[in-house]
Amino acid sequence: MPTEIIKSGEVRVRIAPSPTGPLHIGTARTALFNFLFAKKHRGTFILRIEDTDLERSDPKYEKDIVEHLKWLGIAWDEGVEVGGEYAPYRQSERIYTYSKYVQKLLGEGKAFYCFHSKEELGRERQDQLKAKQTPIHLCEHRGLPERKIKDFMAKGNYVIRFVAPKKKVIFQDLIHGEVEFDTSLFGDFSIAKEIGVPLYNFAAAVDDFEMKISHVIRGEDHISNTPKQILIQEALDFPRPKYAHLPLILNPDRSKLSKRYLETSIGDYRVAGYLPEALVNFMVFLGWSPGTDREIFSLDELVKEFGLEKVQKSGAVFNVEKLDWFNGHYVRQKNLDELAKLCLPYLSAQAGPGEIDLDYAKKIVALERDRMKKLSDIRELAGFFLKEKLEYEKELLRWKKMTDEEVATNLKTVKTMIEPISDDLFTAAAIKETLDKEAEKTGKGELYWPFRAALSGLKQSPPPQEIAEVLGKEKTLLRIRAAIEKIGRG
Ligand code: GLU
Repeated sequence: MPTEIIKSGEVRVRIAPSPTGPLHIGTARTALFNFLFAKKHRGTFILRIEDTDLERSDPKYEKDIVEHLKWLGIAWDEGVEVGGEYAPYRQSERIYTYSKYVQKLLGEGKAFYCFHSKEELGRERQDQLKAKQTPIHLCEHRGLPERKIKDFMAKGNYVIRFVAPKKKVIFQDLIHGEVEFDTSLFGDFSIAKEIGVPLYNFAAAVDDFEMKISHVIRGEDHISNTPKQILIQEALDFPRPKYAHLPLILNPDRSKLSKRYLETSIGDYRVAGYLPEALVNFMVFLGWSPGTDREIFSLDELVKEFGLEKVQKSGAVFNVEKLDWFNGHYVRQKNLDELAKLCLPYLSAQAGPGEIDLDYAKKIVALERDRMKKLSDIRELAGFFLKEKLEYEKELLRWKKMTDEEVATNLKTVKTMIEPISDDLFTAAAIKETLDKEAEKTGKGELYWPFRAALSGLKQSPPPQEIAEVLGKEKTLLRIRAAIEKIGRG
C-alpha cells in the first residue's frame, strides 16, 4: 500500500474490547498496532470498553484488560479522569449519547421498531435457508402507524432496526486496498435492543464519531461490519474514518487462533513467565515486518519503525517457538537483580514461602539464566537447589562404562579432597583447582560427571563446582554421601 501522508496531531485511534473475557492476544496485538500508529504520528490512543451487552460483560474482565495492557506498556492517552489517572471510556456510561442518535434516526424514518419475536425470526430464517436464499430480515414493521406501535409496545419486546439503503459500499482499506460490499444482503439490521441498549455496530459508529476517531485499526474479522458502520455514519452525517483491517492470527495449522491449540490470554502468558518486552516484540511480527532481517525491537524503537504500509494482508501464524526465542533473548538482557526478582515467585512456589531470599535466588539464577526461555523454567531447571532429598536413578551417576565401584571411589575421592576447604573458601574456583589435578589421573568425565549428577540429580545442569558453591559445603557433602549410598559401595 502507498504511504499515507498524515499531519502530526491528526491521528486519533482506539481499541474497543468487549469485557467478555480476559485480554486476548489478538486484542493485545490490535492495541499494540494502534498504540504504535498513534505514537508515531504524535496522535492519541484511546481505550474504549464496549460493555453494553450486560449479560456477557463482566467488570473482572475489564480489570484484566486494563491490567495487562499496562503490563505490556501499552498506555492510553485519554479517558475518564479518576484520581489523576485515565479510566477507559465505557459505553455503559454513555447510554444517553446513543439514545440521542437512535431517537434522531427514528424521528427521520431511518430506523423503526420491530416487534417480531425470536421464534418468528427463527422460522423466517429456516424457511429462507430451506429455499436456498440468503437469510435476511426485510421487516414489514417498517412504517407502522403510531397507534400500532403503541399497541405492540404494550404487549412485548422490540428491537430497533435500521433502514439499510440497498447499494454498494466501497471503502479504501489501508491494508486491503479497495473493499466493496453489497448492502442489500444485510436486510434491515438491528441497531439497538431498546432505546438505551445499543448494539455493537451502532454504538461503534456513534463513538468513533463522538471520539473523533481518524483511523479505525482492528482485526480483519470486523471487515464485514465496516459497511454497516458506514451506512450508519452516512445516515447520521458523520465523516468516515480511515480503515485498516489487520490480518487474522492463525494456529500453526492455519486455522483461526483458538484456545484449543494455544493459550490465548495475555495473563496466561504472563503466568507462564513470558516478559512483556518479548510479547510486544513477538506480537508486532504477527502481521508487520520491518522489511529487513532485524528482529529485536523495543517498544520505543517500534514507534520509530512502525507503519501500516508494512502490514501484510495474509494471516499471521502464531509460532510459540519464536515467542520462546524472543523471551530467551529478553531474559538474557535483564540484569541479575531484576531477573532474580522476577524468578523469585516461581522459586518460592517450589521451596515454600519464606524459604528462599533474593540473594539465594540471585545465585541460582546466575547459574541457570542461559538455559531459561521462560521465567517458569527456573522451577524445572533449579528445583534441585531447593529440595531436601533428590530423587534420581543410580544409573545417572555413571559416566560411560564405569563400574559401580569406580563411581563410588571417585565420589569418595571428591569428598575427601573438598572436605578440607574451609566454608568461606568453598568457591567454584577453589573446588575446581583442587579437583582438576585429580581429574588428570581419573579422566575428566569420570570425576566430574558422578559429582555433578550427585549434586543436581539431573542429566543436564551447570558444572558441579558452581552448584557446590551455591549449595554450600554442608549440603554438597550430604549429597555426595547420599550418592555413594545409592551406588551401593558406601
Ligand atoms: N467490541 C469489538 C470487539 O471487541 C470492537 C471491534 C472494533 O474495534 O470496532 O471486537
